[in-house]
Parts: sequence; C-alpha cells; structure tokens
Amino acid sequence: MMSFLDSKPGVPLLESDDLVRHYTVSRGLGRGDAVVKALDGVSFTLETAKTLAVVGESGCGKSTLGRQLTLIEKPSAGALKINGAPVGKLSDADAKLFRRTVQMIFQNPYGSLNPRKKVGQILAEPVLLNMDHLGRKERTERVQETMAKVGLRPEFIGRYPHMFSGGQRQRIAIARALILEPKIIVADEPVSALDVSVQAQVLNLMMDLQDEMNVAYVFISHDLSVVRHIADDVMVMYLGRVAEKGPTEELFKRPLHPYTRALLASAPRIDPAQRIKSEPLTGELPSPINPPSGCTFHKRCPFATEQCAQIRPELRPFDGRSVACHRVEEIS
Ligand code: SF4
Repeated sequence: MMSFLDSKPGVPLLESDDLVRHYTVSRGLGRGDAVVKALDGVSFTLETAKTLAVVGESGCGKSTLGRQLTLIEKPSAGALKINGAPVGKLSDADAKLFRRTVQMIFQNPYGSLNPRKKVGQILAEPVLLNMDHLGRKERTERVQETMAKVGLRPEFIGRYPHMFSGGQRQRIAIARALILEPKIIVADEPVSALDVSVQAQVLNLMMDLQDEMNVAYVFISHDLSVVRHIADDVMVMYLGRVAEKGPTEELFKRPLHPYTRALLASAPRIDPAQRIKSEPLTGELPSPINPPSGCTFHKRCPFATEQCAQIRPELRPFDGRSVACHRVEEIS
C-alpha cells in the first residue's frame, strides 16, 4: 500500500504553500496585543537529495520557517505537503512518522547535546523511541554504523560531549539527525558556531552524506559563502516573505531583487571581478509588528517609487526565477 512517504512522479518531496506564522504579543502597559508576522505567506518546493538554502538578516523569518517544517510549531495558516500529502491532515501515527522523516540540526552543538549522556546513549535514544522492534545488539550496530558515516571512531561511543571538539560535536549532532534515515534535514546555521577551518569539513561531510543517503536539506544561513558552496537553490527572505528564489549560481552571478543585490554587495569577496555592484545594505530591518506598507523593503531600497510604498509586490516568475519586485524588468 502506498504511504505518504513514497515519492510520486512529478510531485515534490516537500511543498510549502503560503505558509504563515503569526504570534500575538502584548504591547504592555494596557496597550493591548499586537501581531508579529514572523512568516507571512512563504511558498517553495524541495526535491529529493537537493539543498534549498534560506537566507536573510536576523529576524527575516528563516528560523521560524525551520520550526514550522519540523512541526516544532504549527503554522497559523497555509499548508505543508510531503509527497503531495497535506501534513496537517495526517493521522497521529503518520504525523509521528513525518517527525521522524524530517530531522533538525541546530546551530550550537555545545547546547544541543545532553552533557550528561555518552555519545552512544545520545544516538541510541531516537532509535529506542522510534524503532522499538530493534534489540540492544541491533541498536548498538546502528549507532556504530552511523558514527562511522559521520567520521567518528567506534571507541568514541563511551565518551561525553565535552570530550570532543566543536567540529566533532557537530558530527554527533549530524549523526543523531541521520540515525533514523530521514528524507529531509532542516539545518539551522549548522556551521556558524564552528571555526572557519572546521566549517568546510562539516559542509563537505553533509554533501557526501546527501549523495550517499539521498537526503534533502533546508539549509538556513546568514553566511552567503557557505550557501554558495552547498545549495542547489536559494530563497532570500525579507520580513517574513520571499524576496527572490532561484538556482544558486544564477542568483549569485546576477541577483535581481534589490535586497538580494544589497545582501551580496555587503558580503566580502576575495575576487574583485565577482563583486556585486550595488549600494550595500543600510538601516535596520523594520519591526515585523509594524512593517512598512507596500513593499516592506521600500524604506531601504534605492529604486523605491510611490507605487512601492503603497502596493505589495507579489512573487512572480522572471528570467528563470521568482522575484517580488515591481521594477525588476527595469533595474535588472
Ligand atoms: Fe525596491 Fe520597489 Fe522593488 Fe520593493 S518593489 S524592491 S521598493 S523597487
């Protein structure tokens, strides 16, 4: 019998359709509540064994998106589909299976591993919870096989997290995410807490594991050089919405949205020929409690017009990607 976990021809592995996450917060001093539009209608697809990078400044909604994809939080509106099946309509048993098939890697390997447990226990825990048909011997074998996959020696099984370097701890976190053989991993800034010298090793490991296990990544990052290294497609977010989305190399060579251009212009480049000519980003990200009218980027955009201040641009296809800008034809 077909399950929602079976891929279907022509249907993306994961589809986000107009995903919304709003939070109600108190304004304090009896001034009532306000709504924070952390995610305000985000749509994308993710294919098997591909990497979609989600980039933007802090507060753009990228980590909120990660929490919706892993069901840590429920979206306020919109739909998430896996192999075409709406996640919100899955039975309790299937929702549990979905959680198993979408795993998460967090930014801080120091904080995400229980310091009181040995590596073997940390890795055996998800197996114990989700594969109770496996006996102790099979469980240990699975732990050892996964450790080998991420480059951890078998004798490390009895060590505690504090006995490892930062890079090794992130390998443990990757092993924990992989041990249930997920189809999707949401990685929220997985290398930003690591030394630059270790970042490339962990990224290369993630790419090798993708080839070996056909896992898809949603790779959340503010570091554009890291994104260029690992992603097939990039989605640029601004204030809870998608500004631009497209294939990585094309987007880096010729960013179309003024925000993408400013982000890339602000990023350091060694090769002057690769520098993007644009005004670097100025000003702060506006508050999602009271976002600007029209295009929410208009107060920072050098191309803004009266129309931009009044009418919100929708994401639309342009030149092989999707761009939310009224003036993309003129300025590209
Ligand atoms: Fe700039 Fe207007 Fe395009 Fe927004 S819609 S990015 S303000 S030109």
